[in-house]
Amino acid sequence: MSKPVATDPRPLIDALRASLQGPVIDREHADYGAARSVWNGLIDRRPAVIARCADTADVVETVRLASEYRPLVSIRGGGHQVAGSALCDDGLVIDLSAMRQVEVDPRRRVARVQGGATWADVDSATQQHALATPGGEVSTTGVGGFTLGGGMALTARRYGLACDNVRSLEIVTADGVVRTVSRDEHADLFWAARGGGRGIGVVTSFDFELHPLGPDVGAVTVFYPYDDAERILRTWAEFAPSLPESVTPQLILWSVPADPQIPEELHGVKAVVALGIYAGPAEEAAGDLAPLRELGTPLLDLSGTTPYLAVQSSVDELFPFGGRYYMKAHGLDTLADEAIATMLEWDARRPTPQSLVVLRTLGGAVARVGADESAFAHRSDRFNLSIDAGWIDPSLDVAAIGWARGMWDALRPHASGGVYVNFAGLDDETGATHEQRYGANQGRLDEVRASYDPAGLFAAAARRA
Ligand SMILES: Cc1cc2nc3c(=O)[nH]c(=O)nc-3n(C[C@H](O)[C@H](O)[C@H](O)COP(=O)(O)OP(=O)(O)OC[C@H]3O[C@@H](n4cnc5c(N)ncnc54)[C@H](O)[C@@H]3O)c2cc1C
Repeated sequence: MSKPVATDPRPLIDALRASLQGPVIDREHADYGAARSVWNGLIDRRPAVIARCADTADVVETVRLASEYRPLVSIRGGGHQVAGSALCDDGLVIDLSAMRQVEVDPRRRVARVQGGATWADVDSATQQHALATPGGEVSTTGVGGFTLGGGMALTARRYGLACDNVRSLEIVTADGVVRTVSRDEHADLFWAARGGGRGIGVVTSFDFELHPLGPDVGAVTVFYPYDDAERILRTWAEFAPSLPESVTPQLILWSVPADPQIPEELHGVKAVVALGIYAGPAEEAAGDLAPLRELGTPLLDLSGTTPYLAVQSSVDELFPFGGRYYMKAHGLDTLADEAIATMLEWDARRPTPQSLVVLRTLGGAVARVGADESAFAHRSDRFNLSIDAGWIDPSLDVAAIGWARGMWDALRPHASGGVYVNFAGLDDETGATHEQRYGANQGRLDEVRASYDPAGLFAAAARRA
C-alpha cells in the first residue's frame, strides 16, 4: 500500500538506512546543506531525503522502497540542469553523485560510464587513449542529464549528439529490475533514452562509442568587435551550416572575460566570439578552421593547437558552482534578417557580463539520424540558440530572468517551435509542453514510459527538465 512520504518521511528514511551502502541524508544530517546544493545557486529546494547510492544495488533498493512508500522522486546526475530538476521539495532524491566510475576499453573503443559521472571524469579517462565521445563543454556538467536529453557537443556535426553515441545502457526501471538496453534488447527503452530519457528509470551506466581525438586538437576562439555583430550574424546564416562536418561552429554574443591571459583593456568589452574545434588530427585542422578566423578583423585571436582536455574545461571558471543562472533556448531552421535584428535589439539589454547568447550549428551527423529513430525531436533544426543569463547578486534575479524570457518570447516567431529539454530554466521545467519537447515522438514516448512505469513512480521526473 502507498505510504506518502510528504506526511511522514521517517519510515522511508529508516528503511533506506537499513538497506543502503551509501549515506542517507535527511534534514538533520550534517551534509544536508551541501547535498541539496546544485550548480545553479538560484535553486533552493528542500528534499525530505537524499539517498546517495553507492552502486546499482543501492539504486535497486531505493527504487524498490520508493515504489512502496511513493514519495515524489527526482534523480540527480551531475546536478547541472539549470532548472534544478535534480532536486524535489519534500520528496526523495536518488543521488548518483557517488557513482562516477569510467572504464575505457581502447580496443573496442567503448567507455562504460556510471550514471553520476561528469564530463571531466569521462574526458580525463578517455583522453589517456587519445579517444573521446561528444560531451559537455563545461567539464562539471553531468553525463546523465546531458545524454538523456540529447547532448550537443563541439564535435556534434561529425559524431552526432551524445545520445547518438550510446551503444547500450544499464537502467533500473520502476519495478526495480536492472535492464541492459540496446538496439537489440528493450529497443523501445533504448529509443526513449536517446533524447527522451527523463522519467523512464534510473540509468546506472552508459556504454559510449569513442572516436580518435586528442590529446591535442586544433581550436579556434576569435573575439570580433561587437560593431561587426550584424554583419557577422548575416554571414553566419549560410556560412556556418556550409562548413565541413569536421567543425561544429558556435557564435556567441558575449563580453570578453576578465582572464589574466587577456589584455586588461579588453576585459568586459562586448564582442562576437567564433568558436570551434576540428574533429580530427590537430595537424590537419588549419584549413577547415580557417574560415572562422576570417570573419573580420579580430579584437583577439586565441586560436591554436591545444589539449582537448583544456578545451573541454576552458570556460569552467566562468560558470562557477553556486552562481545564479537562467536559460532558455530555441531551435531555428533559418537565421532571417528580422531574427538577427531582434537578437541584437535584445542583446543590447543583456543584464550582466556573465550573460551570453550562444548560437550552435547543427546538421551533419545530427541530422542524418531519422526523426523517429530516437526520441530526440530536433534533428532538422539548423541552429540552436540558447539565451543564458548568469549573475551573482540576488537583487538581479527578476531583471536577469526577465531579460532571458523577453528575448525568448521576441524570437518565438522565428523559431522552429521545439524546446530542447537540456536548456530549460527554472519554471520552464513544467511549462514546455510535451509536444514542444518531443514533437511527433511524444505519443510513442508516453507509451514507453507507461509500459515500464504504469504507476507513475518517475512521472514527476518525466515532466521536469
Ligand atoms: C554550464 C552549462 C553548460 C552546458 N553546456 C551544454 C552543452 O554544451 N550542450 C548541451 O547539450 N547541454 C549543455 N548543458 C545542459 C546540460 O546538458 C543539462 O543541464 C543536463 O541536464 C545536465 O546533466 P546533469 O546530469 O548534470 O543534470 P541533473 O541536473 O543532475 O539532471 C537533469 C535531469 O536529468 C535526469 N538525470 C540525470 N542523470 C540521470 C540518470 N543517470 N538517470 C536518469 N535520469 C537522470 C534528472 O532526473 C533530471 O531530470 C549545459 C548546462 C550548463 C549548466
